[in-house]
Amino acid sequence: MKIAIIGSGYVGLVTGTCFAELGNDVICVDNDKNKVKSLKEGEIPFYEPGLQELVTRNVKEGRLSFTDKIGEAVDFAEVIFIAVGTPSRPNGEADLSYVDNVAREIAEHMKSYKLVVEKSTVPVETGEKVMQTIKRYNKQNVPFDVASNPEFLREGSAIEDFLKPDRVVVGVQSDKAASILKKLYEPLNTNIIVTDIKSAEIIKHASNSFLATKISFINAVANICEFAGADIQKVSEGMGLDRRIGKQFLYAGIGYGGSCFPKDVDAFVTIAERKGYDFGLLKEVQRINKDQRKRFVKKIEDALWVPKGKTIAIWGLAFKPNTDDLREAPSIDIIGALLKEGATIKAYDPVAMRRMKAIFPEITYCKNPYEAAQDADAIVLLTEWNEFKQIDLKKVKNSVKYPLIVDGRNVYSIDDMEALGFHYISIGRREIKP
Ligand code: NAD
Repeated sequence: MKIAIIGSGYVGLVTGTCFAELGNDVICVDNDKNKVKSLKEGEIPFYEPGLQELVTRNVKEGRLSFTDKIGEAVDFAEVIFIAVGTPSRPNGEADLSYVDNVAREIAEHMKSYKLVVEKSTVPVETGEKVMQTIKRYNKQNVPFDVASNPEFLREGSAIEDFLKPDRVVVGVQSDKAASILKKLYEPLNTNIIVTDIKSAEIIKHASNSFLATKISFINAVANICEFAGADIQKVSEGMGLDRRIGKQFLYAGIGYGGSCFPKDVDAFVTIAERKGYDFGLLKEVQRINKDQRKRFVKKIEDALWVPKGKTIAIWGLAFKPNTDDLREAPSIDIIGALLKEGATIKAYDPVAMRRMKAIFPEITYCKNPYEAAQDADAIVLLTEWNEFKQIDLKKVKNSVKYPLIVDGRNVYSIDDMEALGFHYISIGRREIKP
């Protein structure tokens, strides 16, 4: 099949590359000329495990190409995926201006039948607006369909998630659109859920909001564990083994971040309100999530007494492991708060330091976690990279000024930390003092 992907970011580039890998002819478009230039030179503009090899192979074999000219892609393809950003506006609703721009541009270039597919995460009824926009701006009355095909990949395991999904959701209003999309996804040999467009749009918002709810729920339970002297890891284990609940997303920590959960929960709350429903449950999910970061900063401040003049090593900057994405990363709020208190920050992350330099040029970036910990008054762990799980804690303890670890991801065992003689503060578990 001939496919165009408009927007070559995390989702667009992975989607386009994976469709090419399945044997389709794919052209990825982006209006960021520098991004397209790097892609043409074989450079991937962000970190995603395995993507570089897959892009290189598919370009070499002639199935994948890049352009900054949307007209070229519209001419080429029968199926056009919109994969541009849908960030939050200040009032919480999704900013659909990028989707609107792309819909107009597609309409202006369309000369033959096209299936236009929303891959971006959008509020319910966006499909109708995309349809209306294409009708308005296509002067030749060319036939077309609009469909919704929300993406569920996770950064860090995006390729595996795309090629081996739990399910594919396809929202359509015509049999033709359904059969094109079913054929496209057939090689994945997975469950294909065919719905109307609005239901598909809601499936995506509801799924992300549900996962965010699970995270805020377990964080709230962790706070009760702290007050009561219980252990959240045992509580999570005891709950998660119940198959009705499930273990995933039941890990207490410093809350969710990233480019999806915060904005998608915001957008779901806002669209619900607009449709006449007050989604109070999700507002509480948001409140707990924000509060979790503040509680964590307070833990660091309480442990240090006066952060001013102290050196804090930060281990991990990305919002989760295996990505360099810093959008809505808890590290930004936490480092910002500590800098405001007058602390000196030495940070290390395996892949996200380059991006963080643009946000906090004033902090020191280190070559490895040991260098960051050298002479520190506290180590603050914010991302659960494997590298930190396997670190030589004895060596670390010998190099710091005071062996305090404030662990926002519950990476270490309480017993190990006690045996090693650390002052160890984590989430929803007892504090260990040397
Ligand atoms: P991104 O910011 O990484 O990429 C978006 C790209 O679109 C950018 O490269 C931008 O330059 C390009 N763009 C914007 N306007 C354009 C235009 N008019 N023409 C061509 N290109 C244009 O965003 P992302 O993380 O890939 O997310 C895209 C969508 O997918 C969002 O709606 C997001 O919610 C959704 N989503 C993201 C993830 C994820 O893990 N990142 C997962 C599932 C769904």
